[in-house]
Amino acid sequence: MEFGEKRAELIDNLRYQGIGKNVLDAMLRIPRHLFVPPQIRGEAYIDTPLLIGHNQTISAPHMVAIMCDLLNLKEGQNVLEVGTGSGYNAAVMAELVGGTGHVYSVERIAPLAGFANENLMDAGYTNVTVMLEDGSGGDLLHSPYDRICVTCAAPESPQPLIKQLKPGGLMVIPVGTDHQQLNIVKKDADGTIHVETKGGVVFVPLIGKYGFSDR
Ligand code: SAM
Repeated sequence: MEFGEKRAELIDNLRYQGIGKNVLDAMLRIPRHLFVPPQIRGEAYIDTPLLIGHNQTISAPHMVAIMCDLLNLKEGQNVLEVGTGSGYNAAVMAELVGGTGHVYSVERIAPLAGFANENLMDAGYTNVTVMLEDGSGGDLLHSPYDRICVTCAAPESPQPLIKQLKPGGLMVIPVGTDHQQLNIVKKDADGTIHVETKGGVVFVPLIGKYGFSDR
């Protein structure tokens, strides 16, 4: 089967999990095989996390779909991602915010930031900026953000990330030590914070000043 056919089959399966059409359409446009190491391209359309080196993973497609769906991304939004990895999740969000929006994505491991940058360039994305730094405290320079997507698990939601959300903004973040859960953090127009929990997940840890220590 060609990559295109495998991709269509994967997206069809996600459709039955209740993912919104805009997210599915975005994922249908993105060549996920360009975001994994060349030797495992044949596995790119299996709904599973895959190793991308440095003990890190590209998240499973259903998890990317769920997080992007919960974020309710719109054309023109300013987005922060913490944990670029392969760049695939950033590409999905870039599709959803379009040419008038922008995704700033932070990665702490230099070779992965380079890998993601190349993948995003090869796939033709110009509205994503990959930055090499500890993103556990966010990125003040391009804040405030309409949406924040954290793709690694934090001990708790870092306060600087909450501060960098715009009023009316949303953040999705896996939180927990032994057991992780996916939290949605909403900031009301008046700055009030609401947290909703969406169930158990498994992510690599957020390492850094507002995350776990690098033991
Ligand atoms: N979003 C990625 C994708 O689409 O491939 C998957 C990300 S992977 C599950 C989590 C990433 O978070 C890893 O690449 C890891 O190096 C990164 N990470 C962990 N702590 C970080 C931090 N403090 N700042 C930036 N990136 C961090």
